[in-house]
Parts: sequence; structure tokens; C-alpha cells
Amino acid sequence: MRRTASGMDLNSQIAALLRDFAAIQKSKPSMWGYKRAAAAVLALEEPIESLLQPDGTLRKIPNIGPSSTRIILEVLRTGTSPTIEQAIEESGQADDIKKRRGFRGHFLSRAQVLAALRNKKLVGPTLADYRGDLQMHSTWSDGTQTLEAIVEAGIARHYQYCAVTDHSYGLPIARGVSMHQLFEQHRAIDALNAKHRGRFRLIKGIEANIRADGSVDMKPQELRQLELVVAAPHSALRTSADQTKRMIHAVKTPGVHILGHPRGRKYGSRPGVTADWDRVFAAAEKARVAIEIDGDPSRQDVDHELAGRALDAGCLFALDSDAHSTLELRYAETAIAHARLAGIPTDRIINCWPIDRLLEWLSTANGR
Ligand SMILES: [Zn+2]
Repeated sequence: MRRTASGMDLNSQIAALLRDFAAIQKSKPSMWGYKRAAAAVLALEEPIESLLQPDGTLRKIPNIGPSSTRIILEVLRTGTSPTIEQAIEESGQADDIKKRRGFRGHFLSRAQVLAALRNKKLVGPTLADYRGDLQMHSTWSDGTQTLEAIVEAGIARHYQYCAVTDHSYGLPIARGVSMHQLFEQHRAIDALNAKHRGRFRLIKGIEANIRADGSVDMKPQELRQLELVVAAPHSALRTSADQTKRMIHAVKTPGVHILGHPRGRKYGSRPGVTADWDRVFAAAEKARVAIEIDGDPSRQDVDHELAGRALDAGCLFALDSDAHSTLELRYAETAIAHARLAGIPTDRIINCWPIDRLLEWLSTANGR
């Protein structure tokens, strides 16, 4: 796989260029066309250069039209795209594009994820070490997967457990669940756990929202009703103001187990929280709060570079899919790839622990 100076593979580099091109399109259909093409390149399982045929044409890739194909061939030939660079210059949006380029640091393409999973020289968790996923959303909030579907898909992926972490009531935009709905959900989880006893365990979780002041949007006695609490920021994700205090406040909140998608960044569009992460990680280590590697391809939060700093701070980790459908459960593989690139030992990853050890830790960690 060819890598550029930025650490991107060609798939990422081409996808980034197509996203830049999408951003300066005047018509909505062409904007969506280039965005779709970028997504298709990022999702390729093989390096794009391997799709080049002896006659110089590109093997057909679904969702990639003729003009995107011309750009891909240009990059494969010259290492860059003069067509796009010139269009950016002429668009008058060069500053905005430059900013967007800064929001793509350490993102992996699907091809890089699979290469990291295969690479035997890397230390860190393998797919076989991974026993369960600890952040996902069901039909009870903004997900499309039922609890039954999560159990079935989890068993099919050889997991021993999954935590259902629907959004808390403080986030109505994501159809956050009320405490009453949570009690109902827990009854449904109890029934499924009784049915699959000894084979698969659903964990009663929540994704609580970290408010701008660092407090969590649920009361302490409410947090105690849950077996697992992910706390994650969903606001103030575009400001460059320092938010170290906010994040430290969140990890110090008794009952919180996992700092979910710590930055809240989004691929090419949102920088997320700015903070002194070494101080946040030190506080998390002290409180025994795990740092999440969120494997949603558009999040990849924290990435392997930042995860390496959390590793040095002595932190525990949670590697999660943040899936909203059973198809997205494979996003956990993106998180595992980052953990491998960061060299995180399996003992530091709570998803690699057997269920009994995990439940024991959940019931005693961080002031429980
Ligand atoms: Zn979230």
C-alpha cells in the first residue's frame, strides 16, 4: 500500500480530494456525486492502485462516475489532482478547504483498517481477542437495530457481550430515552439475558451527554441504575477554546466508566474539542475511566496517535463501534485497527476482558 508524507494511503488521499471537490460544487447533485464517490473510495477493501488495469483504465467501482474516475486516474498518474487544485483556487474557497484538510488527521481508510488487522508485526488486540462491543444504539433511541438483532449479530460475530447505550434524556435531538423507557428497556434486556444465559450477555448501558460545563446530564442516582455509563460530548465541538476543565470534570463524575468519542470530531467537517489531552488522560487514569476509541469511520475518535498518549498515561481503553444498525457493528474493526497501530496491550482493553471481569470492574470502578 502506497503511503504519502501525510501518513494517508492513496485511498484516503483520493477520498479527501473528492470531498474537497464536493465542497466547492455549485450544484447539489454534483456535490452529492463527489461525496458518494469519496465514501466509496474510503470503503474500498483494497488499495485503489490495485484496481488499475494493464490498459491504464480503472476497474469499475460502484458509486464512482466517469468524472470521479478521471480524477482518480490523475492522482494515480501524478500523485495529485491539478484539476481539483485549480478548481479550488478559482472557487474563492481555498481558505475553507485548507481548514477542512486540517480535520482529517489520522483517519484510516477501510483498506488501512484491514491491513492493520492483518499485519502480524503490530502488537495489540486481534479480532479474536475482542469479546464484545460497548457502545451502540438501538430502536429505543436513534438506532435502527432491535435488542434481539443486537444479540443475534453479536453471537454471529463471536462476541460474548454487548452494551446497549442509547442516548440519555438530555439529548432529545437523538431521541434520548426517558428514565421510564429505560426501566422498560431493562425488563426487555433481562428477558433476553435469561434466554441466552451462559452464551451472551446484554449490558444495561447509556450514552450520557457531557454538557458544556462538564457535568453529565443525568442525576447520580440515575447513573447508578445502569451497569455501564459512556459519557460523551455532543456540543461545543467547533470552538477552538480550551475545554480541558470540561473533560476533566466529566471523567471525575462518579459512575462514569467510559469517556466516549472524547473529541467529538467529524471527518473533514468538525475539529471537535480542544483540550490538554495529557491532563485529561491523567485524570481518567486516576478515576479509572476508560478512553474510548470510537470506530465510526467518520469519527475515529480517539485515533491511534492520541491513543498512544493515553496509553503512556496508563489509561484503560474501550473499543466501540457506536453502531446505529447491525451492519455498523463492523465499525469496531476500525477501533481495533487504531488500537493495534497504537500498540495497546489487550489487558488494557476492557472489551478484551471476560464478562465476569468486566462486570466486576463496572460495578466497582470510579466511585461505584
Ligand atoms: Zn455520541
